[in-house]
Amino acid sequence: MSNKKWGTEPFWGLGYEYDPQWVLTDKQQRLQADLIELCHTTLRENAVESDKKLLYPRKNFEALAELGVLGLLVPEELGGMGENHACVAMVVETIARYGCASTAMCYTMHAGAVAAALLRHHDNQVIQELMGRLDKEVLIGTLSYSDPETGSHFWYPVSSRAERIEHGWRVHKKASWTTSGGFADWYIVQTTSPDFGGDYSNLSCFLILGDEVKSDPASWDGLGLRGNQSGPIQIDAVEIPAARLVGPVGDGAVSNDEAVDPFFLLMSSSCWNGISLGLIDIAKVHTTRKKHADVGMRVADYPTIQDYVVEALIDTNASRAMVFMMAQALDSCTGDCDWSIHRDVSALPRSDLLHWMWQVKFTAAKNVAHVSDKMLHACGGTAYKPALGIERYLRDGKAGWVMGPTNEVLRQFVGKSVLLGFESLDYWNQALNERVLNNELKKLDKESKRALGERLVAESEKALPGSGKA
Ligand SMILES: Cc1cc2nc3c(=O)[nH]c(=O)nc-3n(C[C@H](O)[C@H](O)[C@H](O)COP(=O)(O)OP(=O)(O)OC[C@H]3O[C@@H](n4cnc5c(N)ncnc54)[C@H](O)[C@@H]3O)c2cc1C
Repeated sequence: MSNKKWGTEPFWGLGYEYDPQWVLTDKQQRLQADLIELCHTTLRENAVESDKKLLYPRKNFEALAELGVLGLLVPEELGGMGENHACVAMVVETIARYGCASTAMCYTMHAGAVAAALLRHHDNQVIQELMGRLDKEVLIGTLSYSDPETGSHFWYPVSSRAERIEHGWRVHKKASWTTSGGFADWYIVQTTSPDFGGDYSNLSCFLILGDEVKSDPASWDGLGLRGNQSGPIQIDAVEIPAARLVGPVGDGAVSNDEAVDPFFLLMSSSCWNGISLGLIDIAKVHTTRKKHADVGMRVADYPTIQDYVVEALIDTNASRAMVFMMAQALDSCTGDCDWSIHRDVSALPRSDLLHWMWQVKFTAAKNVAHVSDKMLHACGGTAYKPALGIERYLRDGKAGWVMGPTNEVLRQFVGKSVLLGFESLDYWNQALNERVLNNELKKLDKESKRALGERLVAESEKALPGSGKA
């Protein structure tokens, strides 16, 4: 195993002996070493500035584009690297661990948008042409899904819609959060489909360009990931050509399950694991250097501190094992992330593994909160001050639990599917819970039942024909 370098020196944190290098090809390991070097020369220093000044990390993206990683997932015939799920997980983890967590999150959203576009690039020249220009022109993409009215239920865009017009579409979008909002060059946005008829599961995806989006970057502020600029954006009745529909009309839910969710869950988990490892690296270097003159001990000599660091590492490597196990499962079911399988629009192999991806994100986001707390404890008051870097990573890691799908929501998804079956998930609030309904009705007296009956009859008579709902 080669030595991990930090410039010309040995790396000051944990070496490769605690990294699962066997999941990476030789080419991927060379890319990892190049990324570590880029973090050393550029990304890590910029992270401090991004955090202090709420600065969007475009400089880091320019540096990343020189390594060609904006097109990491893009097939070679379109000018990309043609890499797989394990590689993209490694890239995000590496950027977060050695460089800048905000950049890692912006990259996660970029690669998620690339995945959504590649899923449906086959008959779409606009998408094909864009995918070939990502690195040359540093074209940063992002995903804009979350809606102000539905919060973390990002699959439910009630404030957004699209209309058919001659030669294209008119798109209306209100997004409460969008990483790289106002800074991205292109956006994959989700709205209800044209003619959706009140059925919120009928969603469509559109490609929107940077100059078609209204944003207010000055309004962005947050506890951590301060460079990620996840502010609100608006798309006000923007008219776009027909080819900027990504996939068929009504493909949104399928695109969520097959591209956006599996990739987001994989990469954001890698970001949380990268932050955990970054914290452990700092704890190693700090506790082995800091001495207590009275007892002649380094902080790392206390068994309590050894226990903190080791438990954090074991838990983080358990989380990484889950990430890379699932990355390999996704590689295996897609012919190593071969996008050509999706010429058949009904080929949806990743969707069958989605409930595993929920568990992956839950684990990584839960772990980073614990690890950041313990590494703060291990490094003491020094860690409470910004200079050591623990304080920033701790704030960055807090985004893990609350970013949609939040850990509360994921726990419910897994819990309900385990106990009540997948059909009980009811993302779009369409299935009637007869147990709850009948139980509540039991509580009504005769008069109330009659009043309710009359109200329901009146409402059903007013219902719009075809809407299917009162
Ligand atoms: C740093 C950052 C970057 C982001 N980037 C993007 C982006 O690029 N694109 C994008 O589309 N969105 C993005 N988001 C938005 C994110 O995905 C969520 O939509 C957002 O965090 C929701 O915040 P909220 O205050 O509306 O939470 P709420 O939805 O109001 O949640 C409040 C609480 O209720 C809980 N809760 C909600 N629903 C349920 C339920 N069904 N069962 C149990 N508990 C529930 C939540 O878990 C939480 O504890 C980003 C968020 C963050 C923090």
